[in-house]
Amino acid sequence: MTDKLNLTEEQWRERLSPEQYHILREAGTERAFTGKYEQNKAEGMYKCAGCGAPLFSSETKYNSGSGWPSYTAPVAAEAVNEYSDMSHGMVRTEVRCAKCEGHLGHVFPDGPCDAGGLRYCINSASLDFEGKDG
Ligand code: FE
Repeated sequence: MTDKLNLTEEQWRERLSPEQYHILREAGTERAFTGKYEQNKAEGMYKCAGCGAPLFSSETKYNSGSGWPSYTAPVAAEAVNEYSDMSHGMVRTEVRCAKCEGHLGHVFPDGPCDAGGLRYCINSASLDFEGKDG
């Protein structure tokens, strides 16, 4: 479960599309309302696009209006790692995949109050959705 996936830059470039590489390995951000999963309402599991680890369940996905897929919690606390991010003149909490350390997005304290108050704001490009019915 805690087995790490460590690849070289070159291996990551082979494995990922240029957009995925930029977001997952260089902490990029896709433009709001452009990602493929922002409007996805199907039931299933969102896995890491870098390593395949399960990260977010559709059960915690909600429409935040932010333009990125938003979740109230990861599928398991140990599925993600969180880091303080002071880049771009802001203090934010970065969210990464615990297995491959791929950049996923950020978590903000403005989520739904009745579901814990957190908003995991995640790039579609960092995710691979697997629908419940295959
Ligand atoms: Fe990963």
